[in-house]
Formats: sequence, C-alpha cells, structure tokens
Amino acid sequence: MSEQNSQKHSFQAEVAQLLHLVTHSLYSNPEIFLRELVSNASDACDKLRFEGINHPEYYENDPELHVRISLDKTNNTLTISDNGIGMNQQEAIDHLGTIAKSGTKDFMSKLTGDQKSDAQLIGQFGVGFYSGFIVAEKITVESRRAGTDASEGVRWVSEGTGEFDVEQIDKASRGTDIILHLREDALDYLESAKVKQIINKYSDHISLPIEMQKEIWQQEEAAEGEEAKPGQYVKTDEWEAINSASALWTRNKNEISDEQYTEFYKNLSHDFEAPLAWAHNRVEGSTEYTQLLYIPSRAPSNIFTREAKAGIKLYVKRVFIMDDADNLIPNYLRFVQGVVDSADLPLNVSRELLQESRDVKTIREGNARRILTVLDALAKSEDAADQEKFKTFYAEFGSVLKEGLGEDMANRERILKLLRFASASNDDVVTSLADYKANMKEGQKAIYYVTADSLNAAKNSPQLELFKKKGIDVLLMTERVDEWAMEFVFEFDGTPLQNVAKGAVDLGDLQDAEEKKALEAAAEQFKPVVEKLSASLKDKTSEVRVTTRLVDSPACLVVAEGELSPQLVRMLKQAGQAVPDSKPVLEINPSHPLVQKLESSAQFDDLANVIFDQALIAEGGLPEDPAQYIKRINSLLLK
Ligand code: ADP
Repeated sequence: MSEQNSQKHSFQAEVAQLLHLVTHSLYSNPEIFLRELVSNASDACDKLRFEGINHPEYYENDPELHVRISLDKTNNTLTISDNGIGMNQQEAIDHLGTIAKSGTKDFMSKLTGDQKSDAQLIGQFGVGFYSGFIVAEKITVESRRAGTDASEGVRWVSEGTGEFDVEQIDKASRGTDIILHLREDALDYLESAKVKQIINKYSDHISLPIEMQKEIWQQEEAAEGEEAKPGQYVKTDEWEAINSASALWTRNKNEISDEQYTEFYKNLSHDFEAPLAWAHNRVEGSTEYTQLLYIPSRAPSNIFTREAKAGIKLYVKRVFIMDDADNLIPNYLRFVQGVVDSADLPLNVSRELLQESRDVKTIREGNARRILTVLDALAKSEDAADQEKFKTFYAEFGSVLKEGLGEDMANRERILKLLRFASASNDDVVTSLADYKANMKEGQKAIYYVTADSLNAAKNSPQLELFKKKGIDVLLMTERVDEWAMEFVFEFDGTPLQNVAKGAVDLGDLQDAEEKKALEAAAEQFKPVVEKLSASLKDKTSEVRVTTRLVDSPACLVVAEGELSPQLVRMLKQAGQAVPDSKPVLEINPSHPLVQKLESSAQFDDLANVIFDQALIAEGGLPEDPAQYIKRINSLLLK
C-alpha cells in the first residue's frame, strides 16, 4: 500500500478520446452509469459462477454472490461492490485501460467533434465502465481476483484524463469495488431513494441481489415539556436487497402460477385488468432468447394513432435495455405487451442497431408466430371461457390484426384464419372464412364479400341483390381497414376472394344458360340506351353496361378490375392523400321500370344523372352536386 509502488499508465488513445467525450459531452441520461456498473458487477459474478464449477476454492467461504451499493455523504462517494471474479493487476491495466471491443476504431472514426452528434454515437456504442465518469471526477477501483492471496489486490485510480495509476494493495474480500468520487453536480446520487428508484427501473430483474444498507428511523424522545427533536434515517449494519432478484421470465414455466404471471403483467403494463392470454418460451436456434408475451384484454385508446407504441421491453441477459422496443414485434401486433430477453445482442444495443440486426428480425418473426399460435388456440378451443376470450380479443384488436394482411405476407394465411365477419345471412361478427367455405353452394367458385361504411349500407347494397336471390351468402366488411387490407388478399385456402362490387359479376356455374342468354338479349336491346348514357355521363363513369346482378335497384356502381374502390378513395382523401382519379362503371338493370323508361324519356339527361347519383348514394357516397340532384328529382316528380 505504499506510494512508491504506484505506477502511472496511459490510456489507449481511443479510451482517452472516449473519456474526453464522456466527460465533456452533455450526457442526456446520466443515470445509466448505475445500470452499466451494476451490469458489470453482475457479469463478474456470472464469471465466478462459471469458473467456480472447476475451482470451488474461488468462493473463499463466501458463497452468496451479490452486488452492494454504498453511499457515503461524508466523502461524497458512491461505491458499487461485487464479490465476483475480480481482477488482478494486469487485468485491471488491460481491461480498464483499453477497449477490446471490435469495431472501436471504426466507431472512433465516425466521431466528428460535434458534441451533440458524438454524444449520441457514444450512447449507441456504449461506454460501459467509463460511464462512471459521467458523474465522477475520479474513480478508484479496488479489486482482487478470486482465488488469489489477500496481498495481491490492486488499486486503480483515474480522473478520466489521459492516465491512470495502479498499485498493489491488500484486499481481504475478493471481487471489485468501484468507488465513484461524485462531482459537485451529481451529489443527488447519494440519496438512497434515488438510487433505489434507478435500480428498480433498470436492474430489478438482475437475478442477483443488489443490496443496500438497511436504514432505520431514529428520533430521540423529547423530555416532558420539550419540543420533539428532529429524527433521521440511520444506516444499520444489515444489508437488504433492493431488487426482486429474480427475473420471472428466467424461471421455469411450471414454477410460475397464473397469479404471478398476471401480477407481472400488471407491473409491466400498468394495466389494471388481467391479460387475456400469454406465451412464455425459451427459444433456441440461430439466436437465443426468452419471450414472455401478453395479450391485454383491452385496447388502449391510442391504438390507432401514431403515438401507439409496442409494449415490448428488451433485456439482454436480464439487464434492462429499453422500453417499447418496436422492432421486436410487427406493427399489427403492437397491442402485445411483454419482455424479450436476448442472450446474443450486445448490452449497448441502440434502436438504430436494432433495426439492422438479424437477431432482432429472427426474434420479431418468432414473436409474431407465437402470438398467432396463441390466438389460433383460443379461436379453436372448445372451452367456453377461451371462446369468450377470443371474442373479447377480436372486438378489441380485430381491426389492428387485419393490418397484418398487408404487413406480414408470410403469416397472411394464418391471420386470415383468425378473421371473423358479419355476413348477409348473419349480422353477428362470427363467420370465419373457413365457415363460409364450408357452406358454399354447389358450383360456387369464390368467397364473395362486399365492403361498405356501415353494416346497413353493406346489407342493403344493390350489388347483393342477385346473391340474395340465389341464396349465396356474402361477407359484409364494414371496418375502415377492410378495404385496404383486402387489397392484399386474393384467396383463402385455395378459393379466390371476390369483391362483389369489383369487375363484372361472374357467378360461373351458379348462373344457368337461360340467364346468360337473357343478358345477351338485354345487352343487344339496350345498346342504344347504353350508348346514350355513356355520352350523357361521360364525365362521371368510365363505362356503362347492362347487368344481371341487380334485382330491385335500377343501377349500381362497380369498380373496374384493378382500380381503387370508392370507399378506399374516400378514406384516402379523408386522410389527406392524393388519389388518382378513377371513374366507376355504371351497371344498369334492364328489368327495372326506371331503366326501361329511359328508352323513351324526354328528360333523358335528368333521369340518367339521377340514376347515377342514386347508385352513388346507395353505396354510402354523396352526389357531387346535391342541389342539382334535388332539382332534377323534383322536376321528374312534377312531370
Ligand atoms: P464491457 O463490459 O462491455 O467489456 P467495460 O468497459 O464495461 O466493457 O468493462 C471492461 C472490462 O473490465 C470488462 O470486460 C471486465 O473484464 C472488466 N470489468 C469491469 N467491471 C468489472 C467488475 N466489476 N469485476 C470484474 N471485471 C470487471
């Protein structure tokens, strides 16, 4: 412990540069120094555990591994101690004086000298031990490697400038003490409440106890007639764990009760209600991770806004890394809450890095598959409670899930299986595509659906008339997302899906030869009317044609194959997006008296426009010029 055996060393050039930046850049999030140092301490204990397998003597009769934080207001120091593997002198020089990390040079070359952008880069790179210098003007490290003599301890001291001092010391206990001599502006880290709160936030799930000295309230009793004396907290010799020291997700599934899963969820999500379901798995393969994912029973109010965040917390080896890690779950499953604990990602992983990581992609896909599996099991279950859960899920999150049809091609079929719709024969949202298929008529070759703004508009859509007459069911899609999502769906289980308002209706074998003949005859007969209509409505329609799809209505609008539907156009326009101009096809019903009247009408133009506008209204649209429409109707009424 004599001064003369102290040696000066210079930091590796990169370290010196990094330290300069750490101390001079405004660190936006100084408290992370605790996370980094506690994480190092925890790693050191992990290493002892590993080496201790072959060298039980390394435990030196001190088998309970722990991390201890002590606060000294007299000397303004915060000390993080562990009884892990420790360092010998050479290790202290090597590990704390150089950066072994690959990519260091590359990282350094990216630094520009601009404080703000550099600070951000450093944050991403991760400064580990050196983060201590965010809050400390000097750091003293005292360490002794497990299994070495008490006289072989090392003291390492640096003020975070170009050099550090190393000397040999006696150290009775193995492991490492990191003593931070706090800067004037960082003295609030001497408050135990603050430290506890930070540990709680970042390191609660470190599986090792993180201990602080127990404090008791002391107040001298006042003598009779005297004023009460002020009391204070006094430290005791007893140490107590301030973290729960057990990461729920690292435990064995069958050791965890439903109550524990539920409590953990509530803690994690700040939701008062219990989750609907969860999945907890350790995944091994190209990347190793644990997933504990929950499906909430209620959608947050902001689920459809841009602020909606994925509720996945990312841990790396039980160390908390970040909240709302949206790269870990596809956007259409953003309602999922939970934890992913990766064994492979680096501790200092940033959001930017997450975006590029292959491991993250694998985890995201694994998470998506797992959630879809849980939902599938609920949907298929014979159990009434499960069925109820699925219903709740679907009412809360069904429309979010549908976004997956466009977003997640690989799982499209699995998502389709989970969808439920109202249909022309049943208003309740219970019909699955599989149910629909099972009830198709003989000769029916497609799954038919119609999209509309409301259930009523869908049910009464003129396009459905022929289907009703023939007893063919049609799925009614009335959610905003349907229109967009269905653009990505062409078939289900080998059967094509057909929007009945798109393209010419072809019922194939369901239409008999006689009907086809009648249509051809009508088309021939109405050729002059169709030509006149085309001319009269040339600004509003791309084509006019005769149809058999209508029974009670005079006309309907359909979308040409490959064009956007009117609902989608309305939606996009409302969202302020530029939409290419597309004109619908007007189909007329040759057996309707109004259409027949056209042939001889003296007010052809008025009648043609009224028929067009009514077709628009029937599907939830508005005439372009409502006043003109009313004028025309009235003039026709008066005739
Ligand atoms: P990283 O942890 O990313 O390797 P750090 O700068 O945080 O980088 O630490 C550098 C090295 O110093 C560690 O890899 C480890 O070998 C050593 N070290 C740091 N803290 C401790 C500790 N508490 N006990 C033992 N070794 C430590």
